[in-house]
Amino acid sequence: MTDFKSILEDINQQISNTEDKGNVADYIPELRNVNKNAFGIYLNVLNNKNFGIGDYQTKFSAQSITKALTLALAISKNPEDVWKRVDVEPSGNPFNFLSLLEVENGIPRNPFINSGAIVIADILVSELEHPKEDFLAFVRQLSNDNSIDYDIKVANSEKETGFKNYAIANLLKSFGNLKNDVDTVLDFYFMQCSLAMTCEQLTNAFYLFANHGKCLQNKLHITPSQTKRINAIMLTCGFYDEAGEFAFEVGLPGKSGVGGGIVAVLPNQFVISVWSPGLNKKGNSKLGMEALEIFTSKTELSIF
Ligand code: GLU
Repeated sequence: MTDFKSILEDINQQISNTEDKGNVADYIPELRNVNKNAFGIYLNVLNNKNFGIGDYQTKFSAQSITKALTLALAISKNPEDVWKRVDVEPSGNPFNFLSLLEVENGIPRNPFINSGAIVIADILVSELEHPKEDFLAFVRQLSNDNSIDYDIKVANSEKETGFKNYAIANLLKSFGNLKNDVDTVLDFYFMQCSLAMTCEQLTNAFYLFANHGKCLQNKLHITPSQTKRINAIMLTCGFYDEAGEFAFEVGLPGKSGVGGGIVAVLPNQFVISVWSPGLNKKGNSKLGMEALEIFTSKTELSIF
């Protein structure tokens, strides 16, 4: 039987001895203040046990990790609109890249690149009666944890400096792929990205992706087929322009964020979250990626 606990302890040991921890994202001013030495992992092995190590109960900015959750909610409300307005191809470009959108007539490459996530945010603004409150309630329900909340300071900090996201939203609007006001949609998008969550809460929230669409409380939120599609997009597009490298090194569908978190799933088997705020050049958590590579190598558990 795999000794998950000692594998996580080994990872923690190796990671804490690594000198180069990457660089904390600073383009959102509020994210500069994070402690670069923080490190946490939380693992949920389905029908078995949970294991946490290090700072797994410290909240951090989930940022783009929330794009998998908004996608799940949008698909549960209006799947036709989602697949009509967003493509499912990896972009091979940075997450806030603008030019492709113009060449491809306002249809974002995938729901995890910023343009795609902004279209998903627009769909939720149209579908939900109280978008911010309803999305928060959805995440709280998935995680079974009412302490999860937005971080208004982070949301405001991004609002003041998110010029590229304003450019993207305006471009989408010019192509008719944004139904609501630019400001209303971005207001929701910046709030969604500001969600502050721990590794434990993120693992719990992503449980449905490993469990055919049923959350921890066994409630069905998306169908098994929709779950399969989201996992496929996480594998091909979940790591900015480093999805190929992540599949090669780690071999799991997942989603990362510039707050330094990564959540990865092996359907039917486990969900794992890691957090280390320093990023590599492509914007993924440097040590988080290394930790997951060690994890799938030692356990020999990956989708391949
Ligand atoms: N709110 C960030 C942005 O739109 C999310 C970036 C990320 O985590 O990839 O720039």
